[in-house]
Amino acid sequence: MLLTIWLEIHIKLKSINKMFCQCPNEQNFDTLQANTNICPVCTAQPWALPTLSKEVLWKALLLWKALNCQINNPSQFDRKSYFYPDLPMWYQITQLYKPTNVNGKVQFFVDNEYSQERTVHIQDAHMESDTGKMIHTWWDALLDFNRAGTPLVEIVTLPDFTSADEVVEFLKELQRIVRYNDIADADLEKWQMRCDVNISVRAKESDSYGTRVEVKNMNSFAAIKRAIQYEYDRQSDLFNKWEKFDQQTRWRDDAKWESYLMRSKEDALDYRYFPEPDLPPLVLDNETLQQLNNETLEIPYQIIKKFKTEFWFHKEYINAIISDKEILDYFLDIYNHLTSSSQSSDIISKLIAKRISWPISAWTKENFKSINELNFSKQQFQKFLEINQESKILDNQLKAIMDEMLKTWKDPQDIIKDKWFDTPAIDQSELENIVKLILQENPDIVQQYKWGKTTTLWFFVWQVMKKTQWKSDPKIVGEMISKILG
Ligand SMILES: [Zn+2]
Repeated sequence: MLLTIWLEIHIKLKSINKMFCQCPNEQNFDTLQANTNICPVCTAQPWALPTLSKEVLWKALLLWKALNCQINNPSQFDRKSYFYPDLPMWYQITQLYKPTNVNGKVQFFVDNEYSQERTVHIQDAHMESDTGKMIHTWWDALLDFNRAGTPLVEIVTLPDFTSADEVVEFLKELQRIVRYNDIADADLEKWQMRCDVNISVRAKESDSYGTRVEVKNMNSFAAIKRAIQYEYDRQSDLFNKWEKFDQQTRWRDDAKWESYLMRSKEDALDYRYFPEPDLPPLVLDNETLQQLNNETLEIPYQIIKKFKTEFWFHKEYINAIISDKEILDYFLDIYNHLTSSSQSSDIISKLIAKRISWPISAWTKENFKSINELNFSKQQFQKFLEINQESKILDNQLKAIMDEMLKTWKDPQDIIKDKWFDTPAIDQSELENIVKLILQENPDIVQQYKWGKTTTLWFFVWQVMKKTQWKSDPKIVGEMISKILG
């Protein structure tokens, strides 16, 4: 069975104020007391009128650029009317007939190796104000309007996806786009990015699309993947049994690995859309368009492509650097600084990426810190890289220096002196003597080795390394020991 998917993604924009009023646009509602961020506009008091926030518009326009959209100028807002208690106005202000951002496209990589590319087309990316929240307790239904009127962009794709992997890689790229350019935080777990997935199956390419089913309520990439797989299996099964079903919306319960019918075609809501009478058509002046034209955005797909084709990074390096905007900026900052003093860009980029992917990334994760909170400064890291390039110091010594730098404020040069790394390398006979000494000191472990416990080799290698102040090559030491022990 062939799978066809398209997406409707709501992303909460980052801005100081809500979309149409002066209330703060809070990003994390969990820590906020209910109904504290409200005013006459976002709670729909009589005579209160909306005014579009310039910052929200600017964020939406940045997205226009990032998603390679065309622009409707003028565009307009529309009213989407329905009754639900969390909607104080009894309508949402959205864009249906003439959205600002239309006909875009996003390029991204679909595989772990960053070698296969895809393009997904965007029907539109329209602005929309969010609803409040209804909270059900055992005895009551409570209303919190803190979220009411906060700015969203809803991105609607064309049915370009044919697998769950494509969907997830696209969403990851979209998340990077909005994060890199400070448009949104887009944390799925905090519902700052919500993705409704439309799924249909058909037997072959020439058939028309099967009945579509919309699945809602997934808050992780893994949950989205599971929901698609479940729906694909469910629809394929019905198809094979020749069972017909209606167009419908289903509610995913990821914890139970199931989805439930929310509403079918018959009870689809009639939203009675019409142009929003309280807001004038949205006309963008030349100055705004010019400013937008001059704006340079960071597009993750292009950055990955550069890493891949110009720097020849393998996927571990790419993953470590693109995972976080702060890490990317850190990398670029040091890279630009070092290459401006005419160093070979290809080599230096690899040297930086190698240390970021290991052990720096691991350290930040283990210590719940950002890359800007390392114990060493960027200047100290640059000194380290210069020492690295001089290649007078062995790789395992460099590793020891970096480990020490992560723990202390010491300069790499001082660590070299402390550890005697600047004294001449050990020659073969001296190394052999040290190896023999270590073996003599540990007869029990030698016996264990001889009885077949070969992992004890690493114990000896480690002891020799320590004794030689990391001036010996672990591979050579290992070979030497296994030769002596036979
Ligand atoms: Zn308000």
